[in-house]
Amino acid sequence: MGLMDGKIALIFGVANKNSIAWGITQRLKEEGATILLCYAGGDALRKRVLPLAEEIGCEFVEEADVQSDEALDAVFAKVAERYGRIDTLVHSVAFANRDDLGGRFVDISRDGFKLALDISAYSLIAMSKRAAPLMPEGGSIMSMTYYAAEKVMPKYHVMAIAKAALEAITKYLANDLGPQGIRVNAISAGPIKTLAAAGVPGIRMMLKYAERNAPLRASVKQEDVGDVALFLASDLSRMVTGEVIYVDAGYHVIGLTLGEDEMAELNKVD
Ligand code: NAD
Repeated sequence: MGLMDGKIALIFGVANKNSIAWGITQRLKEEGATILLCYAGGDALRKRVLPLAEEIGCEFVEEADVQSDEALDAVFAKVAERYGRIDTLVHSVAFANRDDLGGRFVDISRDGFKLALDISAYSLIAMSKRAAPLMPEGGSIMSMTYYAAEKVMPKYHVMAIAKAALEAITKYLANDLGPQGIRVNAISAGPIKTLAAAGVPGIRMMLKYAERNAPLRASVKQEDVGDVALFLASDLSRMVTGEVIYVDAGYHVIGLTLGEDEMAELNKVD
């Protein structure tokens, strides 16, 4: 028996096989979930997503730009018509203009700020509003965040602000939807090589740095996030809501990352 037997999961954010959403999709599918996929990006992305959907026998693949209320209405209406309910909603979506990642933080433009916050944070509210009526007996909503929401990370700039908003939204949604039995949580993943990550300047350095300094001395993979997403989607997490759960090999607990040699060097000063 699978942990997701009989459950329906609507997943936003599969762009290709490296997407975190694909790692989550595979894990939920393995445990028996019926998967519904929603992507954005026109024909180019459809060509990538359709073969993946076929691989897992997914019969619901729809396009929706999360900036469009009409597109979201249409997708959720189709879900309601064909399935009547969902048990899990996965939000694995983010976007920022390249100009607003890197450079100086003070140079973030008003339009770039609005765009990043709309796609990467507000969309969780827009999706949850539409998902809640499809979860009359409760359910699980989750999104993907990053430690830059809490501590300054080089170049992450406007996306850090979007993630801070996403984490606050997680708590407010948890409170709002909790009485209906809907849990809302976020997974804070360590850096992973994906299409979105490639847009962050210096990501290769960040990957190496995280692997070198995280307590587990390992880099996080899509399937590591998939396992924790499975926990959040399943009844195992029935009393967990409003949380940010780290899947970062422990990186977030580290304060000082100097090696013995560097510490010895600094001890010599003064
Ligand atoms: P990805 O590029 O595979 O996924 C990002 C997804 O967002 C894509 O499927 C893309 O089509 C979608 N998207 C962008 N704009 C959209 C729009 N307007 N409407 C609908 N969908 C849109 O990259 P990923 O790394 O798997 O990112 C998934 C999530 O994980 C993001 O929220 C990202 O910030 C977060 N995250 C990633 C990392 C990492 O290092 N890769 C770490 C922590 C958190």
